[in-house]
Amino acid sequence: MKVFWDPVQLSHAPQFFLQRGVVKRNFEVPERAEALLEASRQMGLEIVAPPRADRGALLEVHPAAYLDFLRDAPAVWAAMPDAGPELVPNVHPSPEMLANGARPSATVIGQVGWFTADTACPITAQTWPSAEAAAFGAVAAAGEVALGRHAYALGRPPGHHAYAARAGGHCYLNNAAIAAERLRGLGASRVGIIDIDSHHGNGTQSIFWDRDDVVFVSVHGDPNGYYPWYVGHAGERGGAAGLGANLNLPLPRGTTDELWLNAIAAGVRKLRARGCEAVVVSLGFDASVDEPLSFLSVSAEGFALAGEAIGELHLPCALVQEGGYNVSAIGGLLKRFMEGLVG
Ligand SMILES: [Zn+2]
Repeated sequence: MKVFWDPVQLSHAPQFFLQRGVVKRNFEVPERAEALLEASRQMGLEIVAPPRADRGALLEVHPAAYLDFLRDAPAVWAAMPDAGPELVPNVHPSPEMLANGARPSATVIGQVGWFTADTACPITAQTWPSAEAAAFGAVAAAGEVALGRHAYALGRPPGHHAYAARAGGHCYLNNAAIAAERLRGLGASRVGIIDIDSHHGNGTQSIFWDRDDVVFVSVHGDPNGYYPWYVGHAGERGGAAGLGANLNLPLPRGTTDELWLNAIAAGVRKLRARGCEAVVVSLGFDASVDEPLSFLSVSAEGFALAGEAIGELHLPCALVQEGGYNVSAIGGLLKRFMEGLVG
């Protein structure tokens, strides 16, 4: 199996994180990728730098104005007097403003709030090259899947909280969505995305909300008590054109292997019943019992069984890395998942 990874992805090192009113160091650290890379080496996987994809691959998911913002805004920000080292929003357009015709601002402070959903996605000049390389990895993994082979895009920064035109929750470009779109472009008539990160894949849900050709399943902690707080409920089944192609399986705090694996099995049945021809796995490890902000309590064996359950689809999978913040645990969890997937 190929692992797509570009060392430039280590350069993105966000600092700001706001938790319960306290500013802390961001959990999405470069060491996460180093741990996953080391585990990939130990498994003897072939680690390759993804080639640059055409801009069109990103434009399938994200509008040009948002891509340009991620690339160009850090320099504009840095030129402001008294600017901090990272772009962090202090205002967002409220639903009332949007209902009254709110528009993007001409100034960078307004743009940061417009193009982000929360404060958990600080942006620097290193963010764009890292996010772009992670997205290229997803495109390359989709190419492997189209040839009938599993592939692993070691995505960092992760992607599943990114909307079409909004960063959020450590995510900037939605790598899983980009992989799914590429698979559609390469001929898969229907693509399934199964998201087993402990947080709801709100960005991915939104991107495919009105689509029937991309089926989205998310297994995650109940948003009534966990990020992203407002969506991820079982009743969200897709918009008119995609009704029934979105399946949320929220789980209560403290859920252990059995219920988590039952939900994954239900997701696998959904992808099979819908006739998906290729699979994207939003592979987060933060459902682990060893996670620092643990909500779910899944064991290492649980991750092996999750891999096995997804492997029983007998479809090639693009594994796209999402969360998982216990640097000393995630390499082992990747190994266990891979063992389960490939037997
Ligand atoms: Zn997560």
